[in-house]
Amino acid sequence: MTETDPLPPLREVIRAHGLSARKSLGQNFLLDLNLTRRIARSAGDLSDVTVVEVGPGPGGLTRALLMEGATKVVAIERDRRCIEALEEVAAAYPGRLELIEGDALAVDMTAHLDGRPGVVVANLPYNVGTALLVGWLESEPWPPWWQSLTLMFQREVAERLVAAPSTSAYGRLGVLTGWRAEARILFDVTPKAFTPPPKVWSSVVQLTPRAEPLACDGKTLSRVTAAAFGQRRKMLRQSLKSLGGDTAALIAAAGLEPTERAENVSVEGFVALARAVTAATNTK
Ligand code: SAM
Repeated sequence: MTETDPLPPLREVIRAHGLSARKSLGQNFLLDLNLTRRIARSAGDLSDVTVVEVGPGPGGLTRALLMEGATKVVAIERDRRCIEALEEVAAAYPGRLELIEGDALAVDMTAHLDGRPGVVVANLPYNVGTALLVGWLESEPWPPWWQSLTLMFQREVAERLVAAPSTSAYGRLGVLTGWRAEARILFDVTPKAFTPPPKVWSSVVQLTPRAEPLACDGKTLSRVTAAAFGQRRKMLRQSLKSLGGDTAALIAAAGLEPTERAENVSVEGFVALARAVTAATNTK
């Protein structure tokens, strides 16, 4: 279902509400409705889900989501000035847009789903985007409350999400993502599409949860990858020392070689290491 937008052009909204972009809030706005509608459409059928949008700003993507048929959007925005502008969007789409003023890192998104599956669609503020993603990937219970995440990131971050072992972009984020989700880059977006334009290109990434990820404790996996990639050029027997305990025994229990380097260890290898750490802790 697509609708025509009854609201004034975004440039007018920005002018009327004095929404000068604030760097500290990662504000780079998308004003091109063709682009925001493309992002909204790539999230699939929005009629039976609750769409969670982080950082709606002046509302370009929010309006696109509503035009593309979203029946419920929960939009979390930290900047009060934007909330005032968004109230006009909520009035134009009665009962379909819930506004939450606050820090998305502190909001319990599951409390706003109204019993429907959640999908997250967002042009994320660059300063909290990774922290939000890690939170979504570490969701418990699993499968998580979200069916998909369709997210705009700086391209360099997007490349880290989808990176395979033995590539320079492979690191903690790639392991965590690969463990629990299937991730792909949908398309790239030029800096010129944003107001103001950032220095770098961006990419829209889509993640869907793996139904049965390998069993392991997410926090332990994070600790293990932090240790291993903290010294990514060192061999595991050296880089994993910071975990404490018998490093050689851990590496052997995970079926890895002490001379391997973090960047060459598969997601399965890191999961095996995390399990070995948990087992060693439990037998202490
Ligand atoms: N969605 C809009 C668009 O595409 O034009 C704006 C995207 S802009 C990159 C990021 C938005 O996130 C800004 O509106 C900013 O105020 C908001 N923001 C920044 N930090 C936030 C936080 N911690 N929680 C919620 N919103 C935040």
